Amino acid sequence: MSTKTVLVWYRNDLRLHDHEPTTRALREHARIVPLYCVDPRQFGKTPFGFEKTGPFRARFLLESVADLRRSLGRLGSDLLVRRGHPEEVIPALVSELGIASVHYHGEVTSEELAVERNLQAALAPLNVPMRPFWGTTLVHPDDLPFAIEAIPELFTDFRKQVERAAAVNPPLPAPAKLPPLPAVDPGEIPQLADLGLESPVTDERAVLQFKGGETSGLARLDEYFWNKSLLKTYKQTRNGMLGADYSSKFSAWLALGCLSARYIHEQVQTYEQKRLKNDSTYWLIFELLWRDYFRFIAAKHGDRLFYTSGLRGLDIPWKEDWERFELWRSGRTGFPLVDANMRELAATGFMSNRGRQNVASFLTKNLGIHWHMGAEWFESQLIDYDVASNWGNWNYTAGVGNDARGFRFFNILKQARDYDPDGAYVKHWLPELAGLPAARVHEPWKLLPVEQKRFGVRLGVDYPQPVVDLFQSAAANEAVYNAAGEHHHRKRRGQPRSRT
Ligand SMILES: Cc1cc2nc3c(=O)[nH]c(=O)nc-3n(C[C@H](O)[C@H](O)[C@H](O)COP(=O)(O)OP(=O)(O)OC[C@H]3O[C@@H](n4cnc5c(N)ncnc54)[C@H](O)[C@@H]3O)c2cc1C
Repeated sequence: MSTKTVLVWYRNDLRLHDHEPTTRALREHARIVPLYCVDPRQFGKTPFGFEKTGPFRARFLLESVADLRRSLGRLGSDLLVRRGHPEEVIPALVSELGIASVHYHGEVTSEELAVERNLQAALAPLNVPMRPFWGTTLVHPDDLPFAIEAIPELFTDFRKQVERAAAVNPPLPAPAKLPPLPAVDPGEIPQLADLGLESPVTDERAVLQFKGGETSGLARLDEYFWNKSLLKTYKQTRNGMLGADYSSKFSAWLALGCLSARYIHEQVQTYEQKRLKNDSTYWLIFELLWRDYFRFIAAKHGDRLFYTSGLRGLDIPWKEDWERFELWRSGRTGFPLVDANMRELAATGFMSNRGRQNVASFLTKNLGIHWHMGAEWFESQLIDYDVASNWGNWNYTAGVGNDARGFRFFNILKQARDYDPDGAYVKHWLPELAGLPAARVHEPWKLLPVEQKRFGVRLGVDYPQPVVDLFQSAAANEAVYNAAGEHHHRKRRGQPRSRT
């Protein structure tokens, strides 16, 4: 029996199930040292000055780390926790514990890759190899019908070819037992205050009280699929905005790897065999393929995902209008659908997919504000922030992504009528509009003074006047967008976003 020691470096893969770095180390009969490194760079500021990891995600992360530690402990091991740069912490442990190799899940975006490169450089003189594994997507890159460099630019092309040609591998089982840790200080999991953050206030209006960790992620899946059987109506409900049931809410657990996409896939298959198979069971996998697509597109295009000019290379003169940005961010634009969603985000760290599309469209297509300001605010606030999904979706919604359809903006009023016909969602987050009848609640600016009095809201006092005219502002930004489009071939690239 070999006595080789493998360090398993946990990153956005905070789970036992479907964890190839650990499974491979076990197969090699190695001693295993699991490590999570709290990297202070993740708790700095974004280029526009927001907290890179706001309190909601930070809390979720610390809960996930604590859960992983408990789970590893039950199997006879433990999780080492260190604060610092992995490229300094890991080489020190290598020397201290005689580690022979480092297993980890590889990432695809610049900041994460830079850490991998730095670590590799630091380990080279010690002669310790790094072994990357791929563990995020449904489909493994080796099983794609094309090379990553040749991924189709359009989601539909990607999806159709993948559905035709690629199989999803079953998840690896969680280990039943792990070798004990060598004698070493396990280290303390930091508190939010240690990271310079305050505890977020619990808001009872939240869709769900998200709790980090594999245990809670698996429990949420059991609830959504098996206990409540909500999967069978997912396709009809997924555009909702209110409550826990309209969509899976798996995203936060997926983002930190507490749930593996392949495990979800396997559970969908089991559901299809045991309960029923319909367009809803298919649709959840369809949505997970969006996640795969954005990750592969990020791998293909590298830093272009973060260019102001986006994947398409559009040279648009975005505004950095902090006054209006502040109205957007705090939910005071005067458009109830936008405001309710932005207040939900600030109060809970979550927003529905329908909401995200609308607020992102409003910021970029109606206010003409720099899409990076929005993307960074989401990065800061979202409990489910995922680099590829966030920046990929923002590219797409800002019109600089590989969506070939040109200037498209969300008609907020139509969206509000279609997806919040009785106004329940906007009233949930904007209590000042609670007295308005459903037919009026999405356009409060149309209320006559006498109506304002009757419904108990004073425009400009209790609730703001609209910051722009919806259609005029879209037309003005469309003109700007189309002019930029004409320069498409002359100036292809903006400045790369600083991501270090
Ligand atoms: C501007 C913008 C920013 C976004 N930022 C993020 C982000 O940082 N992290 C993130 O996970 N999602 C992001 N999304 C995608 C989507 O809004 C969320 O994944 C979804 O709302 C999460 O809720 P859910 O888990 O209940 O989704 P469900 O509807 O239950 O979908 C199941 C899963 O499919 C995946 N998925 C669904 N829609 C998308 C999509 N459009 N793109 C990528 N994956 C998708 C997610 O992993 C999700 O958990 C963003 C969307 C927009 C428009």
